Amino acid sequence: MTQPNLSRTGRCRLSAPFEPRTTEIADGVYAYTSAGDGRCPSNAGVITGPDGVTIVDTVAPRARAQDLRAFVDDLGAGPVRVVVNTHHHVDHTLGNAVFPGAAVVAHVLARSEMAESALALARLWPGGERDEVRLVPPSVTFDERLTLYSGDRRVELVYCGPAHTTNDVVAWLPEDRVLFTGDIVLSGVTPCTVTGSVEGTLRAVARLRAFGARTVVCGRGPLRGSDVFDETEAYLRWVQAVAMEGWRRGLTPLQTAEEAAPGPFGHLNAPERLVGNLYRAFAELDGGALGRSLELPRVFEETARFREGAGPACLA
Ligand SMILES: [Zn+2]
Repeated sequence: MTQPNLSRTGRCRLSAPFEPRTTEIADGVYAYTSAGDGRCPSNAGVITGPDGVTIVDTVAPRARAQDLRAFVDDLGAGPVRVVVNTHHHVDHTLGNAVFPGAAVVAHVLARSEMAESALALARLWPGGERDEVRLVPPSVTFDERLTLYSGDRRVELVYCGPAHTTNDVVAWLPEDRVLFTGDIVLSGVTPCTVTGSVEGTLRAVARLRAFGARTVVCGRGPLRGSDVFDETEAYLRWVQAVAMEGWRRGLTPLQTAEEAAPGPFGHLNAPERLVGNLYRAFAELDGGALGRSLELPRVFEETARFREGAGPACLA
């Protein structure tokens, strides 16, 4: 991993529970991460160039997106011209609204998924955010690959789904060897495949490893190197092994999770995601297309029960 430029590191306006942190990870390229444990404290990227700024994911809730916006404004690098959404989940897209005038770029399936998930926003962000939710959908979509240019710097967008969702896109900066993975890979947080695919995520991680990244900006958590791929693969292979055992014995995913927990990965944040991951692994043992729809309300209800009243789970 590159050493952060301390002159640009550590600025933050929000306090707990998000504790945002900014780190210059390449010349004019910044990671906006979170040291806090607020609800779905997702990460973002800021790529500056001679003609303006490209943002990778726009975080949530709105106050945090506005903090990201303030950081960008303070850089004095010009207008935000492009926003990339790595996938449709609201903790990566809700802040699109604070960058008016920017082209919003995402996978073609992200646009339709955002339209379908709009009604679920109020449930995801209860309280004061409810009246402020306004989704700005992608205005530019693509299927497999799209290369953006920020000056001479290439930003290669590559579709790697289904993995965390059906529409996962990573942003690869080859000259800087920086990779923004979205939620395909998480740092210190349990992987989440309930709206995507366990097997698909394993395939995606193999592709991400092949980029040879020096700095990996995960969808959540601190900056990492390639070791985060090892951790993600180990967890998902464990999920597949646990699922196979439960599936053969005729257990439900919830029963299987209750037997297996906490397991060797109980130290990761949000361990209750095991339930959804097992639902997904069971579906893949049953056969059919990777990433096909599951009965999500039931999965979420059982995840909450597994969590035993510890508060609402984040499944984004
Ligand atoms: Zn997500």
